[in-house]
Amino acid sequence: MSDKRNVQILPPETFANLKLTKMKDKAVGIPAIISSMRHISKEMGIWRGIKLLNKMNQKDGFDCPGCAWPDPDGKRSGLGEYCENGAKAIAEEATKHRVTPEFFAKHSVEWLSEQTDFFLGKAGRITEPMYLAKGSSHYEPISWDDAFAKIGEKMKSLNSPSEAVFYTSGRTSNEAAYAYQLMARQFGTNNLPDCSNMCHESSGAGLSQTVGIGKGSVTLEDLYESELIMVMGQNPGTNHPRMLTALEKCKKNGGKIVSVNPIPETGNNTFVDPQNPLAIMKGGTKLTDHYLQVKVNGDVALLKAIMILMLEEEDKRPGEVFDLEFIATLTEGYEELVADIRSASFEAMIEQSGLNEKEVREVADLFISKKKIIICWAMGLTQHVNGVDNVKEVVNILLLKGSIGKPGAGTCPVRGHSNVQGDRTMGIWEKPKEGFLSKLDTRFGIQTPREHGVDAVESIQASLDGKVKVYVFMGGNFISATPDSKLTGEAIQNCEMTVQVSTKLNRSHCVTGDEAIILPCLARSDKDEQKSGLQFVTVENSMGVVHKSQGRLDPPSKHLKSEPAIVCGMAHAAMGSEKVNWKEMADNYDTIRDHIEATIAGFDNYNTKVRVPKGFYLPNGARDRNFGTPDSKAHFSIVKAPNRQVKTGHLIMMTIRTHDQYNTTIYGMNDRYRGIEGERRVVLMNPEDMKEQGLTNTQVVNLVGEFDGEIRRSNNYKVISYSIAKGCCATYFPEANVLVPLKSVAKGSNTPVSKFIEIKLEKVG
Ligand code: SF4
Repeated sequence: MSDKRNVQILPPETFANLKLTKMKDKAVGIPAIISSMRHISKEMGIWRGIKLLNKMNQKDGFDCPGCAWPDPDGKRSGLGEYCENGAKAIAEEATKHRVTPEFFAKHSVEWLSEQTDFFLGKAGRITEPMYLAKGSSHYEPISWDDAFAKIGEKMKSLNSPSEAVFYTSGRTSNEAAYAYQLMARQFGTNNLPDCSNMCHESSGAGLSQTVGIGKGSVTLEDLYESELIMVMGQNPGTNHPRMLTALEKCKKNGGKIVSVNPIPETGNNTFVDPQNPLAIMKGGTKLTDHYLQVKVNGDVALLKAIMILMLEEEDKRPGEVFDLEFIATLTEGYEELVADIRSASFEAMIEQSGLNEKEVREVADLFISKKKIIICWAMGLTQHVNGVDNVKEVVNILLLKGSIGKPGAGTCPVRGHSNVQGDRTMGIWEKPKEGFLSKLDTRFGIQTPREHGVDAVESIQASLDGKVKVYVFMGGNFISATPDSKLTGEAIQNCEMTVQVSTKLNRSHCVTGDEAIILPCLARSDKDEQKSGLQFVTVENSMGVVHKSQGRLDPPSKHLKSEPAIVCGMAHAAMGSEKVNWKEMADNYDTIRDHIEATIAGFDNYNTKVRVPKGFYLPNGARDRNFGTPDSKAHFSIVKAPNRQVKTGHLIMMTIRTHDQYNTTIYGMNDRYRGIEGERRVVLMNPEDMKEQGLTNTQVVNLVGEFDGEIRRSNNYKVISYSIAKGCCATYFPEANVLVPLKSVAKGSNTPVSKFIEIKLEKVG
């Protein structure tokens, strides 16, 4: 697809250089150290890299820009408190490579758009603000003042504030996020979509409705002392590798681990602690006791089958399986749930889950006998039409056991990007609560809007409909991260101006509005010096701990600004500083934290508490059995097991990440654990499905999606025989996003359904 500039919205559909090896049976260990050092040495130099890594996730250091996995409250490892993917993330942001004005003068946006996302990411750190004029083919340097003035003028020229949209990626610090939402709301809109809309929105919705808080309830210590951890639809070995250390501690304390996933993941199998020479010699710790290879979206059926068996046992031994006292005093809806379980057919649930009775009975026995249970989950549960229901069913089974709000038990949605949870806490949400808005109004003497804004999916539709004139992106790579890539690209090209606050180049700098501005910002690991001196920012991890993060490196260019300074610069240009003193906030982030303290619950004495090295826990009602629902009770829900079918010969496709990528950032071309190297255009298929369709290993196919009478295509994939559940297949995100229909979303959360895409395969040649 091409626009006025003839740019390519989709990455090239050409092959790289596929090499297949065996799927690995052990995660981390020496190969992870070698891989980390290779990336560090290539991108930033080995000594500079090691020095920097020693400060990552330490109490006096900076927060890993990768995932949101928490750090231990107590002592942290002197050998390094990071994983292979954390090392890759830091190698990527502290790279020695630079994208300068000369680079942009040499390469047109059309040419850049024809390159792979891997090439764009590897080009280096952007060193100066850049401007792409309407009709122009090349970005040109622009001063900060002129860039802010252009954005301010454009915002002022809009017919309505709702013609502007402000997207946030989960790397954004608390301070930048708070200032950003304040800017949008002072301007007059709640158009604040974020990357949460596309990942854990279903968790937020399901948990808020049942236990009164849209966050998980457990701490790291809970994982260590749990008797049973079930990991559902999640690949911790690649996406949150330090979680493996916590799972290992649970195992060593006698806990059991169950993995539920249509694809067996190496990280769930055996973990070799790279900091423990004995573990390396002995070959590591086997983590998973029971692996359940569910069909894609067979999770509710599995949970229901387990609950049927639990209820049978509870009937025989009343009060010995369920926590009846907890249920009687602190929950609502128990009788209805029991009636629902009794009405369900065990055989049908087994059939729908894709599992066999024996393996389900074995896991049900664990649920029957254990009292301290944690369920962890990620996109495998949330990115379904029934994503909210999946989360509610998880809550159901935990409530039956009273496994919430006590040590070793609870809900654990594992968050992706490093501050995605904190950004929500700071008010990045299109549906803000009245209490928060009125506090902003009082604090700043402004009138914030009450009308809800658009989420990520709605913002794409609004842009397609011509309702969005200015789209500002606080980090991220919207074009690649969102569903229906081709349509999303067309939507963004419909805008008059797009603004990207970025550290590095990506596809979203190529597919733009008529005018485009790149505002290059400091990264997590960079020193941040403002008028009042050296600054730090704060972030919140997946378990609700808020802590400081202070970069160490000299910034790659003197022309960069911090994210808070950029937000304040844009806001001042658009609205002046009469009501909100944007300049004061940019000069000293303590000022922003004072505003946060005054307007958001749980941040009392923020500036003092956050200077305590390990940070502090935010209040979490579910953790204390003080449920934040209207009746202060936890609620059981009636959830139907979905039984979505696809046409004969079609497959259910889900998107997955490789071990060499984090979200849309491609660190390398290998998927080491799965034994797939040098190529990303692959489709992983069950050998029986391949046989039925007459396909052989590495045969080339096109993927054709069918949804609601619409056809979507993504060409050139090599078929790989893999032990994925029958009838299902997997392809890498973001290449396959073009097949995720914009209108296929989760009920109650509007999260794109990236884990259940009906496709057929078309042989090539
Ligand atoms: S587990 Fe996550 S936060 Fe920790 S080092 Fe790895 S990528 Fe970074």
